[in-house]
Amino acid sequence: MSSASIVVLKFGGTSVSTKSRWETIRDIALDHVEQGRHPFVVCSALSGISNLLEALLPAAVRQEHEAILEEISQRHVALARDLEIDALELLEQELTLLARLALGASLLGEVTPKVQAQVMATGELMSTKMGAAFLTKQGHKVTWRDARQMLTAQREEHTHEGRHFLASACVYDADASLRRQVLGEDAPGITLTQGFIARDDEQHTVLLGRGGSDTSAAYFAAKLGATRLEIWTDVPGMFTADPRQVPSARLLRKLTYFEAQELATTGAKVLHPRCIEPVRQHDIPLYIRCTPHPSMEGTVITSDVDDASAKVKAISAKRNVTLVSMETVGMWQQVGFLADVFASFKGNGLSIDLVATSETNVTVSLDPVANALDEQSLSGLMEDLSATCRAKSIDHCAAISLVGRNIRAILHRLGPVFEAFEEQKVYMMSQASSDLNLTFVVDSEQVDRLVRGLHAQLFQDLAEDDEYVGPTWRALFEGEPATSAAGQEPWWVGRRQQLLASMQGHDALYVYDTQTLDANIEALTSMQAVDAMHYAVKANTHPEVLRRFAAKGMRFECVSWAEVQVVMDTLPELSPERILFTPNFAPIDEYIQGFEAGVHLTLDNIHPLEHHPEVFRGRSFIVRVDPGEGKGHHKHVRTAGYQSKFGILPSDLEHVRALARAVDATIVGLHTHVGSGIRTPHLWAKNA
Ligand code: ADP
Ligand code: ASP
Ligand code: MG
Repeated sequence: MSSASIVVLKFGGTSVSTKSRWETIRDIALDHVEQGRHPFVVCSALSGISNLLEALLPAAVRQEHEAILEEISQRHVALARDLEIDALELLEQELTLLARLALGASLLGEVTPKVQAQVMATGELMSTKMGAAFLTKQGHKVTWRDARQMLTAQREEHTHEGRHFLASACVYDADASLRRQVLGEDAPGITLTQGFIARDDEQHTVLLGRGGSDTSAAYFAAKLGATRLEIWTDVPGMFTADPRQVPSARLLRKLTYFEAQELATTGAKVLHPRCIEPVRQHDIPLYIRCTPHPSMEGTVITSDVDDASAKVKAISAKRNVTLVSMETVGMWQQVGFLADVFASFKGNGLSIDLVATSETNVTVSLDPVANALDEQSLSGLMEDLSATCRAKSIDHCAAISLVGRNIRAILHRLGPVFEAFEEQKVYMMSQASSDLNLTFVVDSEQVDRLVRGLHAQLFQDLAEDDEYVGPTWRALFEGEPATSAAGQEPWWVGRRQQLLASMQGHDALYVYDTQTLDANIEALTSMQAVDAMHYAVKANTHPEVLRRFAAKGMRFECVSWAEVQVVMDTLPELSPERILFTPNFAPIDEYIQGFEAGVHLTLDNIHPLEHHPEVFRGRSFIVRVDPGEGKGHHKHVRTAGYQSKFGILPSDLEHVRALARAVDATIVGLHTHVGSGIRTPHLWAKNA
């Protein structure tokens, strides 16, 4: 191979979403040019776009894709405006394709992995086209390349369709001809291409799994014989825990490939688990750097880090883990039981992460990154398993891992750490035979608390800065804007310019970010334990907010007839069934209007039923119960308990039943609302 040097630079979603980030990309790339290296730049889609694209076709099946299409186009148009390029002309091909594929899915009523891959690939194609146009317009020499012409996905025999199209792996042998092409086009300039996408041997577009742009970059580094791979993201390196969750997490300055692999595999999202092996095999150093703070040092990952002492290096967590527990009486000394059950996983294209076995039970975990887990493959699996054993799946689990070296040698020091599990149900525990991790599977909602607790236990006595462990996240970012509860930079930070521009001619504006609204609704509606979610209309009645939430399947909770009217006027198509009306000390007319409109109605005190029984004749309604104890962040928001004016006491329920029976009315539900700002989940279970 030629002796010229290539450096592969990968920029993630937040690193390509604003003009100032593109200026940083330009400066970093030109810096390498100046040092005589050819920058080969690999980019993700704009942040949030892959999520929208993933949701597009399923929404099209429900005829609800228009808003998503519009938002995808708007996001690109807004960035293009800042970059002073014409998005609609530049991205016409992708935007047209998306509209067509969405229409196709809406007509066919189905989503296939093959089409899903085509849709999601447009995210990276669009971001890189915009970046290339911006850099070219600034007078730099840029060659835009289609990653699918360079990366070939391996198709293993019997690979499940979903896995092949959505989470493929590629060949990454040194590729002298690609290297020649890339260097040949250099005079000196920048190559710009997409992460996340590749092509199979039948020329179909395939994806490398969510978060797979890191892996694309590693494949390119290996194929091109790069001198280094730099992953530019929104954090300055790998930390001892996710720094957005644990601000006292410390920077890990140096890691071996094996340590980084273990961290990535166990959930440290900053690196995609498949991106380490290619650079390890080709011995290419991997640097993690921070795009918003390009001068911060970051993490270096190589093979030679001579810190071999036994210790826990970091804590990582993986959410959305599904457990499958398989029970049989016949396994003890039986031949082939494990082979049979594992064959069912293979047959459904599911990859197993952790395994624990006893004489009568085998429990395994399914990793959400490795498995594009859909309802279908899981129900297929459960059906197949039922032939061999009693199988049960447990959703919403999380795996917490202590990652390090020789963990067995320091078990005695972990004593106090285990106290953190005292009150928790630990579904499964597994210790890697490599001795690099110790993993516990618990309920998802326990993760934050446990990770913080464990981190405090394990790292509070860690020495001051040394060669291996650097400052805390908090120390690095003292004085920076606070992060939101979701851990991300608040949305308005990245849209500052756009917000200032919208202010032209106004003294004040209310601005809502539809992406944040959607993300929050999606997080809520993904809780499968809850059948129906109601949006409390009093929070905000902006028509666009109501329309969005309706499109996402939300129902609406109203506490006055005026609120019911706003919802009905804004959403004339909405079935009244999706409105829950809880008049509170309201005139009896509001009850009459509610019954006539056909909405669900809640009776929240006995008075109306006692004094206007005829209004309730033959009707169905819900009763609000006061379980006797209020909760919440302030006494004025606690709406239950014997002092409270809301809800009917359990001791009065017999009386309510008799009153209802006398007018042939039916009580169809129970309602409780004991306060606001309640952060302890056990209260929900208690009230239920
Ligand atoms: P990109 O879009 O640039 O690929 P990702 O969101 O995929 O970025 O990965 C970066 C995120 O990884 C960080 O914002 C951080 O919250 C998360 N993360 C999880 N664990 C760790 C860890 N141990 N160290 C650093 N970041 C971590
Ligand atoms: N855009 C893709 C995703 O969000 C790939 C990546 O960003 O790494 O999953
Ligand atoms: Mg990523």
